[in-house]
Amino acid sequence: MFHLLRGAAISRLLVALLVLPPALSACSGPEAVNVYSARQEALIKPLLDRFSAETGIAVNLVTGDGDALLARLRNEGLNSPADLLLTSDAGNLYRAQQANLLQPVTSPALEAAVPAHLRSDEGFWFGLSLRARVLVYAPDRVDPGALSDYAALADPAWRQRICVRSSSNIYNQSMVAGMLATQGAEATENWLEGFVANFARPPQGGDRDQIKAVASGQCDVALVNSYYLGGMLRSDKAEERAAAEQVRLFWPNQAGRGVHINISGAGVTRSAAHPEMARQLIEFLLREDSQQWYAEANNEYPVRPGIAPSTLLQSWGEFRADPLQVSELGRLNAAAVMAMDRANWK
Ligand code: FE
Repeated sequence: MFHLLRGAAISRLLVALLVLPPALSACSGPEAVNVYSARQEALIKPLLDRFSAETGIAVNLVTGDGDALLARLRNEGLNSPADLLLTSDAGNLYRAQQANLLQPVTSPALEAAVPAHLRSDEGFWFGLSLRARVLVYAPDRVDPGALSDYAALADPAWRQRICVRSSSNIYNQSMVAGMLATQGAEATENWLEGFVANFARPPQGGDRDQIKAVASGQCDVALVNSYYLGGMLRSDKAEERAAAEQVRLFWPNQAGRGVHINISGAGVTRSAAHPEMARQLIEFLLREDSQQWYAEANNEYPVRPGIAPSTLLQSWGEFRADPLQVSELGRLNAAAVMAMDRANWK
């Protein structure tokens, strides 16, 4: 009797399921994918609009600071409405992965578009754009022939001549993690000691402030992400353009492993209610035309090979980039933070 009833109930349920999907989607409104983005709206929204126009999939965008978005994802857990997390450092993406906030994605299109070292080696996230941590210098006080690799910045010749932002910043943490991965703990700790001893002032401000400090003579060399220089050169603020025009870019480590690089990237959240649409959106962002726009919007380099960077970036010349797997930047983040603390990098 019980079995019969249950059988009948199952049949009714099956009929309902077969009939329901169109009704359900009609009730829940247009399809939408929810994005938590540490990138500013202006750097991403036009592309998201194009994605919606092409696919009919709406995109709801929540923007915020990378750390704040991670905290929010953590608090919301599996109830989070987010389908996709977009951040601007492999270190942040790795943190999200470690906190079990992302799910692995298998996509031949993504694997073909993104070089293996610019995406999670476990499929949890994919690079969307590439940035380099370069040197800027004052050409009236520094002979570029005296510049070479990051290691040389620990030399006493640079005493009180270097500006860099604080060690709490993920870009610096990732750079030191990269050194730990490629040169080991001892060489990195020795370098940190000499490098910190050469600071012209206690770390303060962001990368743009370091460029301004070189321009105003507070220091001779600064360590910054290349797109900040690009952003200042293209700024609508006259004083930002003026400062940027007083400094020059130098590509460090060109005789060695290459300049330290990092990515902005995206991963599908563990909680995603629309994982397929989220994957589609990442694939869209890696399409050739999107890559060109996305990189140019923030003066970055495309991750997808074979796409020319903007004319401004081309004027800085070609460079050798460190081929390190960017997952290592996340894996060694805690060790990097400890080493920077020990070296008293504020
Ligand atoms: Fe930045």
